[in-house]
Amino acid sequence: MTASLTWRQRHLTRPILNWYRKVLPPISATERDAIAAGTVWWDADLFSGKPDWAKLRGYPKPQLTADEQAFLDGPVQTLCGMLDDWDIRRLGDLPEPVWSYIREQGFMGMIIPKAHGGLGFSALMHSQVVMKVASRSPAAAVTVMVPNSLGPAELLMRYGTDEQRGYYLPRLAKGQEIPCFALTAPEAGSDAASIPDRGVVCYGEFKGSRVLGMKVTWNKRYITLAPVATILGLAFRLYDPEHLLSEKDDIGITLALVPTNTPGVEIGRRHFPAGQAFQNGPTQGRDVFIPMDYIIGGQDRVGQGWRMLMDCLAAGRAISLPALGTGAAMFCARFAGAYARIRRQFGLAIGRFEGIETPLARIGGYAYGLEAARRLTAASLDHGEQPSVLSAILKYHATERMRTALNDALDIHGGRAICDGPRNYLFGTYMSVPVAITVEGANILTRSLIIFGQGAIRCHPYLLKEMEATNLPDPDEALKAFDKALFAHVYSATSNVLRAFWHNLTFGVFASSPNVGAIAPMYRGLHVAAVTFGAVADLVMATLGGEMKRRENLSARLGDVLSELYLMSCVLKRFEDDGMPKEDLAFVEWNHRSALYTIQTRLDEVLKNLPMRPVAWLLRLIAFPLGRHRRPPSDVLSRDVARLLLSPSATRDRLTTGIYLNRGANDATGRMELAFEAAVERDRLEEKIRASKPGRKALADLPALVKEGIITEAEAAALTDANAIVREVIDVDDFAPEELTQRAASPHRPAAAAE
Ligand SMILES: Cc1cc2nc3c(=O)[nH]c(=O)nc-3n(C[C@H](O)[C@H](O)[C@H](O)COP(=O)(O)OP(=O)(O)OC[C@H]3O[C@@H](n4cnc5c(N)ncnc54)[C@H](O)[C@@H]3O)c2cc1C
Repeated sequence: MTASLTWRQRHLTRPILNWYRKVLPPISATERDAIAAGTVWWDADLFSGKPDWAKLRGYPKPQLTADEQAFLDGPVQTLCGMLDDWDIRRLGDLPEPVWSYIREQGFMGMIIPKAHGGLGFSALMHSQVVMKVASRSPAAAVTVMVPNSLGPAELLMRYGTDEQRGYYLPRLAKGQEIPCFALTAPEAGSDAASIPDRGVVCYGEFKGSRVLGMKVTWNKRYITLAPVATILGLAFRLYDPEHLLSEKDDIGITLALVPTNTPGVEIGRRHFPAGQAFQNGPTQGRDVFIPMDYIIGGQDRVGQGWRMLMDCLAAGRAISLPALGTGAAMFCARFAGAYARIRRQFGLAIGRFEGIETPLARIGGYAYGLEAARRLTAASLDHGEQPSVLSAILKYHATERMRTALNDALDIHGGRAICDGPRNYLFGTYMSVPVAITVEGANILTRSLIIFGQGAIRCHPYLLKEMEATNLPDPDEALKAFDKALFAHVYSATSNVLRAFWHNLTFGVFASSPNVGAIAPMYRGLHVAAVTFGAVADLVMATLGGEMKRRENLSARLGDVLSELYLMSCVLKRFEDDGMPKEDLAFVEWNHRSALYTIQTRLDEVLKNLPMRPVAWLLRLIAFPLGRHRRPPSDVLSRDVARLLLSPSATRDRLTTGIYLNRGANDATGRMELAFEAAVERDRLEEKIRASKPGRKALADLPALVKEGIITEAEAAALTDANAIVREVIDVDDFAPEELTQRAASPHRPAAAAE
């Protein structure tokens, strides 16, 4: 065999392979499953340093079907109208009519195929529903999202036996069963694969017969819907000490569906997360005997639970929390913009102050960019992708930008958004932010370990091939496969380094870009950033080798670069899909500048912290041969974006399409809509009055203005009404002291804590 090896393979590649095996960090079986889960898509293009823009631009425009749109305009609109988040938070639960409506209309079975009695919605529609409901009540959104994501229904659809699917899916679709899924344990949060919960294979009594099954012991916490669940999805590690299934003692993580009325299941107590009213709580069981056919997918699926969960997570993470985050950013854009127009201080609408323009522009930019990414990523699931890296990017950035947008919106509202009560339309969502940050992969971990860590291995054109080659059993085959991947890698890295240097030296004017008018330079800028990222990522990984896994800050910053490349790709795609309305260009420009500036900053930070200094100097020459010339959005651009949120327009409506809106005077947001229109009319009339006599101050004396013929009677009445409703929406709630001390939502101190 050795004779067939080339000189290069024997004398050059072999020592490199030996060294590579030594520096490769150890990868556990659960890490391997996590890395292998899902698919790669546009992220691979970005990683290669050669993004094929035709591929992205040719991707079908995300669209709902007519049936889906009708459901959105019908039952979803009705459900949103039934939701009052203040009441829900005080009650500590959704009111019974809301629960009934959710069940009856099939909200719990949105992803279940019609053949099993579900609504059979696309991923895009699922995301759209969550977004709209979330814009009304986070607790209702969580209640709707959990049965449709990362839970029993999805696991059954992918892995269930025919019998399990036939029994459970129709019942889940109709809300006859309420599911929850329990993975997290007190000892195992982010490191979920380390759960201590265990099952032991044995024979036992079940419904009067002796059957093969498992005695399961668990202690789980934070489980959404657990207090009201009728079926409990349970993850535990299965052991077979008597070898009743196979020769293995430790079979691995296994998933089962356990009816909550099974003797020994303890469930029903509640946590109180972030003051939110959705159902969430612990569950325990000790030596609870369950038959083998409770395992999702039956006995054949023992030990495959971790891989099953990782596959579901790869897709699921792209839906619920990105929808929640996008809806929140849109909501902030609409109502912080309206409030900044309505509210005056120092004789001016606060939205006219530069200090307010900056956060307003950030909210607008984020709302536009997140919607672009939400749509495209959800639609990619409908085209068969399960983009694990992109879904992690979306989960992280949607929830972080939601946090920033809400902070900005609260600042803009001042005390108006701090004092809680039925008039406060922001506080409930603001409070829910930590939940979104923590679940489905806590954000610090997602940024530090997953986005670049998994992205580097999955999306890089050659890294996984090199790693796989090291594991081939035949030494010569391993050497040949490694040699092939390694030299392709070296060729691609060299090409990226040279191209990055050339494009950075020439300000990207020769970079590839489609011929699309105003946004062509943005494609070019992004192309150069992708090539530079490819070059830097390759050399950083080559320098650090296995150490990379421990250098979380470097990984996080490179992950930020990959994320910005993806999010900005989505922005350009959205702008083209929307027909390139020139009025929306300011949002695109804001995102473009912000993305390229962030990329520049993160690359600079990577180079400042890279331990091997000569490599850092070389990379600095390649990435910044003419210095760091990218600038963040200018004050003028921020003003342009902010102004789009301060006046009614098709652009503002497009920006907030997808959240729930109403115009009811009895509703806090409905009143804001009316007040916003009234404020616009107020401003027009005041302008007219001022123009009639420069320096005129006496706007309050409306009868005199009518008498002078400056405004009509009708205009005077409109001005009076406008002032009244504007006054109304500036008000906050106050309460009799006993109303606050007897709030229904305030739980008693738990007995253990009171001792
Ligand atoms: C409201 C709510 C609902 C939930 N619903 C469910 C559910 O339905 N089912 C279920 O099974 N679980 C559920 N969870 C659990 C959730 O998935 C976990 O909270 C999450 O995995 C984080 O675990 P932890 O809270 O124990 O934090 P920890 O794991 O203790 O993490 C604490 C901090 O350390 C960071 N961290 C951890 N490891 C690293 C690392 N290597 N590098 C950098 N940073 C790191 C994390 O990012 C985090 O910031 C829910 C949690 C909450 C709060």
